[in-house]
Amino acid sequence: MLRLVRIASNASIVILSVPASLAEGTFSNPGTYSATAMGRNGEVTVTSTFSESAITGIEVAHEETPTIGDAAIEQLTSSVLSNQSLAVDAVSGATLSSGAFIEALEDCVEQAGGDVDALKAVPVQGEETKVVYDVTDADIIIVGAGGAGMTAAMKAAQEGASVIVIEKSGVIGGNSLCSQMGINAAGAKVQEGLPYASAELLTKAQMQWGGRENLVAAYVENSGKTIDWFSETYGVEFKGPDGERVDPSDPFASVGEDHPSGGDLFMMRADAAGYTANTLISVMSESLDGAGVKLYVNTEATELTCDDSGRVNGVKAKAADGSEVTFTGKAVLLATGGFGQNHDMVVSYRPDLQYAITDETAPTTGDGIVMAQAVGAKTVDMAEMQLFPHVPVGDTWLPPMAMPGGFMTTALFVNQDAQRYTTEGFDPSTEGTLAQEHAFVIFGESDMNDDLKKLEARGLVKSADTAEELAALFGLDGTALAETIEKWNADCENGADSQFERLPFTLKKIEGKLYGYAFGVGAHYMMGGVLINEKTQVLNQDEQVIPGLYAAGEVTGGFHGTKRVDGSGTGDAFVFGYVAGNALASEVLGE
Ligand code: ADP
Repeated sequence: MLRLVRIASNASIVILSVPASLAEGTFSNPGTYSATAMGRNGEVTVTSTFSESAITGIEVAHEETPTIGDAAIEQLTSSVLSNQSLAVDAVSGATLSSGAFIEALEDCVEQAGGDVDALKAVPVQGEETKVVYDVTDADIIIVGAGGAGMTAAMKAAQEGASVIVIEKSGVIGGNSLCSQMGINAAGAKVQEGLPYASAELLTKAQMQWGGRENLVAAYVENSGKTIDWFSETYGVEFKGPDGERVDPSDPFASVGEDHPSGGDLFMMRADAAGYTANTLISVMSESLDGAGVKLYVNTEATELTCDDSGRVNGVKAKAADGSEVTFTGKAVLLATGGFGQNHDMVVSYRPDLQYAITDETAPTTGDGIVMAQAVGAKTVDMAEMQLFPHVPVGDTWLPPMAMPGGFMTTALFVNQDAQRYTTEGFDPSTEGTLAQEHAFVIFGESDMNDDLKKLEARGLVKSADTAEELAALFGLDGTALAETIEKWNADCENGADSQFERLPFTLKKIEGKLYGYAFGVGAHYMMGGVLINEKTQVLNQDEQVIPGLYAAGEVTGGFHGTKRVDGSGTGDAFVFGYVAGNALASEVLGE
């Protein structure tokens, strides 16, 4: 998907001043030039216009996650144009998109006859984009601008509350943007006529993994209302599942144990391409101005504050410039997501995950859990984590269908000794992969696809003409890898896997140019977290409400139990965000 960036002002970022342009002759070939560089998901193409003494315009087309790419590129574009400098920092939370933008822009500068090093030396002198904390008191303070935080903010504001949202990274959307799922729902207006999208079946699907009854009931009751709210407020069009995939005699049959899928009974999608969360975050972010929500990015909550009675009444935070800023309110919502990015925390609850990596992209390090625990919150199910069996090493994510080690495995998985260690496949390999620090996927030329080519352009997928050369690129023993491939190719000719249990139709020789990448198992989604009640109020060790403190989304525990049903993770964020918005508004507005 190609997107042209809209250059607009962010709610809390201002351009303080526009400096004088550069010296005449800075650009010896004025005109308009284009260049392309590889971002996180795909190409970032910058088209920039130059006069003799200034960069006068920048337009960008990109394939990045829309909300992240747009926000980062808006910030960078503003900064470059106002400073006429290339000394701009990558936007936190979007470093790869930022890097690609800067690389492509530098190329344009060279084409225009400019000196990149000289422009990197142009000081920004405080004129760069800057967060200005002009409002620090509101009815509600929300920590985290992912699906849960954004939904709660917009809902509470719609009810009439004033809201401040603080976000640690430079972009909004959190890990919600990684979701390719829809939202499991029942009772939405658009679900009329979908016979299986009933509250009973959704409750059953959700309850089988030990979720708390009150939370499941709150979810089911509010799921349809959330869908209706997004439709009515923002005009989002949701589409239900294709009923033909459901067996009418046993609609619940496909709600399986390995991948609790919800059987495709309840999944409501706002985007056929699988970007429901992205669509919802986008429509909310476009409505921020004038909504009564103040958003501060690059602002990291560090501690909750309480009044003398112990009621939570605010948040201390590290401001964008590193100083401390305190936000005060009548109530606080923690919407800080999971803790996949905090490896020590993952291992503290799951020592068996010492070699796990993560596919979480936002800086979700469990801050909300730590802050809540400091004021006495109870946590539940902390060891319950959903794993993603196959994550390429290097801050990336690929759909399982695109990976030769994903759903349709034709590749070989080898360990540090260049030996096969498992039946290759998505789920069966998890245990073996977790037993080592990185494994490697080896595949032949016919498995190369466009998604993998993008990773190759980033240097993550490597290629060579011989097994020995490929092995050297990964620090593996060349002779051992050559033998492993030879043995496998012989197995393919014989029609049987002599070492493990690969099925006959997956026996495909590794031929032509050879490719590979390092991968690991990702800590993907945290089922556990801070215990809340059905109004999203945080509970203490005695399961009593901690006054003034709410939590919603992946930071919470108790709703999922031991497994996350596909579509209920995205739902957790948006549905409980909706519940929190309502509950917070009615508390602070005294209703
Ligand atoms: P959810 O799906 O529950 O909404 P997400 O991962 O989508 O969770 O969003 C969580 C957001 O919270 C991320 O954007 C993350 O950067 C932000 N966040 C995490 N810790 C902090 C913190 N200490 N202060 C401010 N924002 C935070």
